[in-house]
Amino acid sequence: MGQQGDDGSAEAFLRDFAQLSTIGATPRGGVDREAATVRDGMARAWLGGWLASRGFAMRTDAVGNQFGLLDLVPGAPYVLAGSHLDSQPTAGRLDGAYGVVAAAFAAHRVATGVAAGTTRATRNLAVVNWFNEEGSRFGPSMMGSAVFTGRLGLDEALATTDPAGVSVRAALDAIDGRGEQGPLPVAAYAEIHIEQGRELEETGDRIGVVTGTWAARKFRFRVLGEQSHTGSTRMVDRRDALLGASLLVVEARSLADRFADGPLHTAVSQLDVRPNSPVVVASEVRANLDLRSPDPAVLDAAVERVRAVAARVEAEHGVRVELELTHSWDRQDYQDDCVAVSERVCAELGLAARRMLTVAGHDSTNMKDVVPTAMLFVPSREGISHNEREDTAPEDLVAGVDVLTGVVRELVSAPGTPAAWTSPSLG
Ligand SMILES: [Zn+2]
Repeated sequence: MGQQGDDGSAEAFLRDFAQLSTIGATPRGGVDREAATVRDGMARAWLGGWLASRGFAMRTDAVGNQFGLLDLVPGAPYVLAGSHLDSQPTAGRLDGAYGVVAAAFAAHRVATGVAAGTTRATRNLAVVNWFNEEGSRFGPSMMGSAVFTGRLGLDEALATTDPAGVSVRAALDAIDGRGEQGPLPVAAYAEIHIEQGRELEETGDRIGVVTGTWAARKFRFRVLGEQSHTGSTRMVDRRDALLGASLLVVEARSLADRFADGPLHTAVSQLDVRPNSPVVVASEVRANLDLRSPDPAVLDAAVERVRAVAARVEAEHGVRVELELTHSWDRQDYQDDCVAVSERVCAELGLAARRMLTVAGHDSTNMKDVVPTAMLFVPSREGISHNEREDTAPEDLVAGVDVLTGVVRELVSAPGTPAAWTSPSLG
């Protein structure tokens, strides 16, 4: 951890981030730190030690969000900055963790400026590690920020179980991950993340300033057929749920080509085949269908097409298809003044900035609904993400920390009486 003399420097950032990346490290250079596992607990302890040694008061709330609070102005609301330390099972080391360590450095640098008298604070500072952003062990994703913003109930979140039947409550308690932090007044939120796409790499811009999100429609679907013998049942008599599901998988892919200019991204994930036995025609398949586009009209047309194909599959293959819409959101914007602050900071640092939309969800997607929110991207090598090969050039990582520092500094020293939103009570 921080050595005398270079505390907060670019070298210190790269060194400390490399140290964090050894926790849950995989042989191929990634990390495995699913939410509320022992390894997630070790990463949380590392962050707690880093922040506490620099004067931050460490707190956790009832859903395992971890905060480092630094009071600069008694009674003022907080400028919150952070991301998530949890990861997919075999993940890259940057997704989420980069944003948390960047936020810790940014907050520490700003606090150092306040102590030295070069920055005048009108708000307090807080670093956050949101619990369970990935949603790989416990659904839904972005759980901690969803509870913090009142979008998801605490009890519902705590009762969620992983595939082994372990609840969020039990898993968090096992790593001592739940605390009693009460409602926090928040003036603004800032987050930096790897892009997870290749737009910045292709344009040569250094920083993405996120202005909005793509729209999305997510479905849970069930195809219901009838169990039979894979060998002896006559073909005309079969009602094969796996065949029906497969036709929908293929349709999802061809939809993306049909609306290539939309653009439209589609996927079917996580097939649950029943009874999933070698000599048995499947009786039921459950799966998820994910449709995303910057244009809601494209999504609606795509959904209409999915419904038509589902009806055809029912008619031609004797199965029933049930489509349940589980998530739906249209394009959502981030606040203009936060975009302006981010662009101003990039210009001051001489870094080419590009306005972008985010396709993936982030904790900032929840936070932007309650407070002014700045969301920044650094380039991802070849756009690779949710993969151990995920990578970003060290100079881009360091530039991102500098931009986040500038943004947090502006938000912390903004003139006027801050308007604050206060998180709901989780007790
Ligand atoms: Zn992430």
